[in-house]
Amino acid sequence: MTLVGIVGGGQLGMMLAEAGARIGIDCLTLDPAPDSPASRVGPTIVADYDDETALAGLAAAADVVTYEFENVPVASARFLAERVQVFPPPESLEFAQDRLLEKTLFEDVGLAVAPFSPVSSKEELFEALEVIGVPSVLKTRRLGYDGKGQVRLGSVDEPEDAWRTVGEVPSILESVVPFERELSILGVRGKDGKAAFYPLVQNVHRDGILRVSIAPAPDVTPRLQAKAERHALAVMERLGHVGVFAIELFAMGEELLGNEMAPRVHNSGHWTIEGAVTSQFENHLRAICGLELGPTSPSAYSAMVNLIGSVPPKGSFDDQPGVHLHLYGKASRPGRKLGHATVIGPDADTRDRVLGRVTQTADKK
Ligand code: AMP
Repeated sequence: MTLVGIVGGGQLGMMLAEAGARIGIDCLTLDPAPDSPASRVGPTIVADYDDETALAGLAAAADVVTYEFENVPVASARFLAERVQVFPPPESLEFAQDRLLEKTLFEDVGLAVAPFSPVSSKEELFEALEVIGVPSVLKTRRLGYDGKGQVRLGSVDEPEDAWRTVGEVPSILESVVPFERELSILGVRGKDGKAAFYPLVQNVHRDGILRVSIAPAPDVTPRLQAKAERHALAVMERLGHVGVFAIELFAMGEELLGNEMAPRVHNSGHWTIEGAVTSQFENHLRAICGLELGPTSPSAYSAMVNLIGSVPPKGSFDDQPGVHLHLYGKASRPGRKLGHATVIGPDADTRDRVLGRVTQTADKK
C-alpha cells in the first residue's frame, strides 16, 4: 500500500483522499484545523505548516508528499524534500506564490500576459500608472487568491487609496483585459515526463471567486486547445512539474493571455470526478506515485457550480437526475466555498437546463 502525505486538509485534500481510497492509495493530511474537510475522510496530523516535528512525522510516514494549496511555505516543502519525495517540486510552489515570477515565466515560454509593471512603493505605483494607465488592477505579488489582495483602479486619482488597500506590500499593476471569456487548461505530468490534458474549461467568476465551470468549454477549436496545451506543457517542463497543473487564461477569440497558474488540483477541474474518464484527483495521485496516467477524455457534458457562503436546503436540487452534490463540511461564512454541485448531461442542452435550475437555487439566500 502506498501512503501519500498531503500538506493541507481543505476540500482538495478531502477529494484527493477520496480518490486515493478507491485505487488503493492511503492519504495522511497535515492541517492546523482539527475539523478540516480532509479529516472527515481519513487520518490527519493537526499541526501548523511550519511545525518541523510534524513535518518530519509526515515525511517518515509517507512514501511521497504533495500539497493541496500553493501557499504552503516553500521552506516547509524544502524541509520535506530533504526527507521524502515531494511532488510537485518546491520550484512549482515558488513560482506560483509570486505573481511577478509567474508572469515572467509565462512570457519566457511564449504565453502572453496583460501589460504589467512591478510596484513596490507608492512612488512606483504613480510611475506604473503612467505606463499601464487605467482601468487597471493592483494585485499583491504574494498571498492573493479568490480576488483577495487586489483592487481595481478606474481613474488615476485613486493610487494612494489603492496602495493602502493592498497593504503597501510588493505588488504588480496590470491592465484590465477586455476578455470575451475566461478559460482554464488543466494538465497532468508524470514522473517520466509524459503529459495529458483535459479539454479547456470555461469559467465564470463572481466577486473574484469561481462561480461556474462549463466543461468542455463551448466553441473551442482544435487549434485553441492545442495552443493552450502547448503553453501549459512548456511551463510544466520548465518547472520539472509532476502532478496536476492548471493555468487560468483570458480569451479573446483565438488569442490567449495567461493570468494565473496553480501547481495542484484546481477548482475548475472538479467536474472531472463525474465528467471525465479519470478525475483530476486520481490523476494527480497516479502522477506523483509514478503510475501510468489515466485517460483525460470527457465522458459527458458537465458543469460545476460552487456553493459559496451558504448551502441550499437538502433536496432543493441535489435529488435531480444528473446532479452530484459535494459538501466539504465547513462552517458557513460569506465568500467561503462550502461545496459544489456537478451537473452531468448526455448533451449540452440537457446539461444547461439542469444547470439553470441549480444556479437559480444556489443563488437563493
Ligand atoms: P486572479 O486572482 O488574478 O485570478 O483574479 C480573479 C479574477 O478577477 C479573474 O478570474 C478575473 O475574473 C478578474 N481579473 C483579474 N485580473 C484581471 C484583469 N487584468 N483584467 C480583467 N479581469 C481580471
